[in-house]
Amino acid sequence: KPVLVLRGVERSYGALTVLKGVDFTLNAGEMVGLIAPSGAGKSTLLHMAGLLDSPTAGEIEIDGQASAKLNDAGRTELRRRTIGFVYQFHQLLPEFSALENVVLPQMIGGVGRKAAAARATELLSIVGLKERLHHRPGKLSGGEQQRVAIVRAIANQPKLLLADEPTGNLDPGTAEGVFAELLRLVRTTGLAALIATHNLDLARRMDRVVTLRDGAVVPA
Ligand code: ADP
Ligand code: ADP
Repeated sequence: KPVLVLRGVERSYGALTVLKGVDFTLNAGEMVGLIAPSGAGKSTLLHMAGLLDSPTAGEIEIDGQASAKLNDAGRTELRRRTIGFVYQFHQLLPEFSALENVVLPQMIGGVGRKAAAARATELLSIVGLKERLHHRPGKLSGGEQQRVAIVRAIANQPKLLLADEPTGNLDPGTAEGVFAELLRLVRTTGLAALIATHNLDLARRMDRVVTLRDGAVVPA
């Protein structure tokens, strides 16, 4: 089942055309690697897939909904309901514990505190952070912080996970551990994941890899 579909997506900034007709489908349960040389338009593509930016031509569908048919409020609602995002630098709230960082987005999504805390505890335990629930991000290692960020991104049960270099800031051993957890979560939840990475070893272990070249997606 397609979760993310891009059809002939173009994006120009004035005279500069960054994306020149991107066609791409991501299905539920799939983990796809996105490889892009710097400046190729990776961030632009992820922003569009995350409904934070609109194409200058072409169509984007998330979970069967055409983004062009929605207004800004509709896109925001669709994004909040269906998309989780992981960044290279985790962007956790420094004043809050690991647990609270995973509880808050759920409460903003309308889940009650108790249920949110139960789910946060379960997810953090799955990624090996059962003993770290009450630590603030600053007291966690880089790999632990990124595990919290991943769990936070999926706490609201999104259908699509977009990750921009989720292990880019980690040493190879830690990156390996975080990637393994991410892969396990995707496998157990049936989430669709698009993972931008420079790490070809990790990319090879995903279901597919696509490369962004000359403004279009080519199979690797
Ligand atoms: P990547 O993430 O692959 O490094 P980006 O998507 O950030 O690439 O940018 C691709 C190209 O588009 C670059 O040449 C960049 O300078 C240009 N670009 C990105 N955002 C803007 C913007 N808001 N205005 C003008 N040019 C932009
Ligand atoms: P806010 O809604 O607080 O103004 P943003 O507009 O930056 O914040 O982001 C809205 C939501 O989308 C946030 O939950 C944020 O984590 C998420 N988000 C940010 N960047 C992306 C992206 N590229 N793709 C998908 N979701 C994103």
